[in-house]
Amino acid sequence: MEKICVAVRVRPPVSSEPSNGTYWKVEDNRISLHKVHGTPISALSYAFDHVFDESCTNARVYELLTKDIIHAAVEGFNGTAFAYGQTSSGKTFTMNGSETDPGIIHRAVKDIFAKIQMISDREFLIRVSYMEIYNEEINDLFAVENQKLQIHESLERGIFVAGLREEIVSNAEQVLKLIDSGEVNRHFGETNMNVRSSRSHTIFRMVIESKAKDTDSVCDHLSTDAIRVAVLNLVDLAGSERIAKTGAGGVRLKEGKHINKSLMVLGNVINKLSDGAKQRGHIPYRDSKLTRILQPALGGNAKTSIICTLAPEEVHIEETKGTLQFASRAKRITNCVQVNEILTDAALLKRQKLEIEELRKKLQGSHAEVLEQVILKLRNDLLKYELEREKLQMELEEERKSHRERDQCIQEQQMKIVDLSNPLTSSDFDPNSGQDSERQGLKEECNDSNIICHGDAFRTPCFKAAPKAFVVKRSDYSMLPDYSPLPDTFSNVADEDTWLKMNKGYIADLDSLQLTPARKVQSFPSSDATPPSLINIPTTHGREDFEQTRLWLKTYSSKNHKQEVQHLKRQLLIATEERNELERKHAEQILLNHQLMDEISKIQQEAKLIQEIPKRLGESVECCKDIYEDVLSIIQSFVSDEESSTSKLVSSTSEIGITLFKTLETHFSMAMDDHSSFTGNNSLIQKQCKVLYEKLNSTITSLVLSQTPTVENKQLRAKRCSCENKGCTQDGQTACWEEELSNELNTIKERCYGLEKELDFNNQLLVVSKERYDSLETEFQLLKEDRDHLHQMVSESSRKLALVADQKENVLKDLNTEVQRRKNLEEEIKQFSAAFASRQRSLVSFQNDVKSKCEKLRAQYLVSVPKRSVPKSLGC
Ligand code: ADP
Ligand code: MG
Repeated sequence: MEKICVAVRVRPPVSSEPSNGTYWKVEDNRISLHKVHGTPISALSYAFDHVFDESCTNARVYELLTKDIIHAAVEGFNGTAFAYGQTSSGKTFTMNGSETDPGIIHRAVKDIFAKIQMISDREFLIRVSYMEIYNEEINDLFAVENQKLQIHESLERGIFVAGLREEIVSNAEQVLKLIDSGEVNRHFGETNMNVRSSRSHTIFRMVIESKAKDTDSVCDHLSTDAIRVAVLNLVDLAGSERIAKTGAGGVRLKEGKHINKSLMVLGNVINKLSDGAKQRGHIPYRDSKLTRILQPALGGNAKTSIICTLAPEEVHIEETKGTLQFASRAKRITNCVQVNEILTDAALLKRQKLEIEELRKKLQGSHAEVLEQVILKLRNDLLKYELEREKLQMELEEERKSHRERDQCIQEQQMKIVDLSNPLTSSDFDPNSGQDSERQGLKEECNDSNIICHGDAFRTPCFKAAPKAFVVKRSDYSMLPDYSPLPDTFSNVADEDTWLKMNKGYIADLDSLQLTPARKVQSFPSSDATPPSLINIPTTHGREDFEQTRLWLKTYSSKNHKQEVQHLKRQLLIATEERNELERKHAEQILLNHQLMDEISKIQQEAKLIQEIPKRLGESVECCKDIYEDVLSIIQSFVSDEESSTSKLVSSTSEIGITLFKTLETHFSMAMDDHSSFTGNNSLIQKQCKVLYEKLNSTITSLVLSQTPTVENKQLRAKRCSCENKGCTQDGQTACWEEELSNELNTIKERCYGLEKELDFNNQLLVVSKERYDSLETEFQLLKEDRDHLHQMVSESSRKLALVADQKENVLKDLNTEVQRRKNLEEEIKQFSAAFASRQRSLVSFQNDVKSKCEKLRAQYLVSVPKRSVPKSLGC
């Protein structure tokens, strides 16, 4: 484990204006903010591996910060050096330098070649590339036509930019010339802060391959020596900027936004990495092209140094603090660095060795310098040819990818349609109609044809990679948590999206992963879908093989295309049917909804009536109370003696009755206000009714008893009789009263009986009403829920309907684009085959030229020095 080396560099101030409040002070490896009169501001002091003040030169920065990384790259370690900081703080100055003080890139290039010269026991092959990330798109600075390049990843090559031009170089001057030519293509722009502000991130990349020189055998083709491959990235980032300060608008503003966004992602990655291995979690490398390309350098297999440049002016204090915080976090990152040794054909050095050795043999006797130049040219030609092949391969892969995506889209659509139809078919509306089973059959058929599509020749053949096919000691970063482990049955190239899906837990369809066009012939498993003549996919460089591939692609693509069109047509038919069905069900649902709404309004009216019942009961209770009071007052008028037991009984009965009526009144008024209390107190009323009933009974009984002749009564009667005997008229009156009283009593009894009956009836009515009310309430709730559910279903159905319609349109569009793409690809294949043939012709003629030249040279040499023997080997 190795920490990232972080340094800070303060550029000279632009203006000589004295600071008003604060200034940055550099002491040894520390930078701190001080007040003008000298006191340091606490908490704003930072220590780094190196802190360079404004007087520091690029030479010193290189010496202390980058040199080790460059030397390690020559030894086979990946290395990355990048400059980070706000705009106009000196990043480009540090990386590119000036005429008098060349920057890190210039010095690194010179240093690498000087170092190689000193290593006599290894042979080296160096190739360079130069790219920029402008508005989140990767452009090739060596070849303007290579724009919007894509990032890919393979086990062999790790993360790489497909189609990026690489030049094999043999000396520093050649590299510097190439860089100058690349600089011309770089995006610069004028802002308020920098007249030549870098509007893109640039990555200058050197791939250094080396292997031990063969000692005994000159042409040991079968040598299995490990080849070291180191990738060195020298990165000049675009500066973060505040739109207000840079005065950016229009194009500049758009650039600024892209720059800030990718720097923010870089900051996020650094933050996560600085958390330490345990808390890290997912590192968002894929959020920007910059972090994706620099992934191995950030927390991976690379020696990394960061130089953070600062603008010392007081106006930039906030940006400076931000940069220092970024640097502090970066300091905590550790990388796991290893020498990258590989034993496979992945190393260009290895691949070209055979051809070169052959040439060397042929050119034996030529002048060494001429020989080297011829070899270099040939190497570059071979590399270009390889890159071109790779580009075409990528295009084919893109094509396959779009094919896959479309298949997936159709599958998803199918799934959605199935999802849509499931809840509907399972509902009561249209159970198991014959049409459904027909459609199901059609769906299955489509699924089958999908399987056939997957089983086509574009599918990854199920080959088991030879266990030692890639004995790779490098690229440990591919084992980092951000990556999903790759089964060995997978191809060793997975495009960005596939990887992304895999890393996000998407269960990858193994068949949809693409096979890396192998360098050796791979056998496809025999399948019905694979034409027997195409079992062996031609992948070698020969023209015959290429023709075969082309023919195969053409035949297969047109056949496949027809199948797909038919398949899509069927899909469309299903989708249309589904849509019609949905529309019909939608109409049905609307009708049902109306009916339900009617029913709901009826129930609501009924509920209203039920709610009025307590009110009506209350009214009848009031009426009863009046009658009761009348009766009581009459009874009381008959009871003259207030002390008698009858009077007491009547008054207690009156009290009970009044309490009962009061309770009833409050109860009903409460019931009118609140339904729940209406039901709750019912038992209490019944109890009170019972008490009243008993009391009334006992009153009546006692009253009746008072009518039967007791001793007292007998005496009274006797008295009366005596009075009667006296012929008093009062007796007749008394008898009349008695009769009246008994009549009244009977009436009261009847009324009381009637009242009891009415009360009973009311109670029963109350119970029934309550039950009815309850059931209606539940029914109402259920209907309400049903209605809501239906509403939801209807809106969901309409949404899905719209979605299906959209998808249908998209599929049609895709189909058209696909047809167009296929045409284009066929055209390109034609062109490529022509170009390939001409290239092959030129190569053959070139080889013949070289041959004849060699012959000539040899003849000349033999003529001029006839007696000296020809040297055995040149540089082998
Ligand atoms: P950036 O790339 O960070 O936007 P530049 O490297 O373009 O900034 O620097 C802006 C200006 O400051 C340039 O004119 C550059 O020459 C000058 N400059 C930056 N750093 C230094 C330095 N250390 N010494 C001298 N001049 C510098
Ligand atoms: Mg710059």
